[in-house]
Amino acid sequence: MYTDSHIHLQDYKTHNIKNVVTNAIKNNVVHFINPSAHPSDWETVAALAAQYPEVTPAFGVHPWYIADMAPDWRQKLEFYLEQNPVAYVGECGVDRLKNPDTAAQIDIFKRHIELAQQYQRPLIIHAVKADSEMSELFPVLPPRTVFHSFTGSAEWGKNIQKHGFYIGLNFSILRKKNAAEILNALDLNRILLETDGPYQNIERGVETLPQNLPTLAQKIAELREIPYAELAQIIAANQTEFLGEK
Ligand SMILES: [Zn+2]
Repeated sequence: MYTDSHIHLQDYKTHNIKNVVTNAIKNNVVHFINPSAHPSDWETVAALAAQYPEVTPAFGVHPWYIADMAPDWRQKLEFYLEQNPVAYVGECGVDRLKNPDTAAQIDIFKRHIELAQQYQRPLIIHAVKADSEMSELFPVLPPRTVFHSFTGSAEWGKNIQKHGFYIGLNFSILRKKNAAEILNALDLNRILLETDGPYQNIERGVETLPQNLPTLAQKIAELREIPYAELAQIIAANQTEFLGEK
């Protein structure tokens, strides 16, 4: 049984959400962590979680979308965390590739970290080309923190895991020329799988579906040269550990 640890069900354009969820469940993907990206989709994400018991919501502001936030965004975020006791915080973080000016991004990211600590919730981080910014914040990150959509270096990945944090892998890791090298360097006990659906498409222009998660696991097992069943077992254990799944 898999959890898709990062999916934006609210963003599907060419698929009906009910079908996305149903087809995934048929393929043993039975739990979905559904991050929001902006205050404008918090209500939608809360409604999805209310509608589908398989969906765990996450509330946060993606670093790409910090420009037009209302001054009361932080109170609003607290409200959603209080209303949804199992919700995670995220996604949030710093993306230096998209925006080299990181001051405002870091400031908003820190507010998310504080809330995750205060409410004792897991934190979902989007970090691109921000290794030094992130390392500086390692001491204040909550114990259950995942660096989602990891495509960094093997060194950086090991560094994250050494501090006890998790790495979320999706199809984007397979596009890296040195994917095998990275996967072989990582601690398998500190990884989670995700599709980041509908993004991180396997085929250009086609929305990625959570039912593809076992295929991702298969490909990672091949590159890591371990039996698929063994990897599946490790992932299940990680899900129990990180997501508190029984
Ligand atoms: Zn995302």
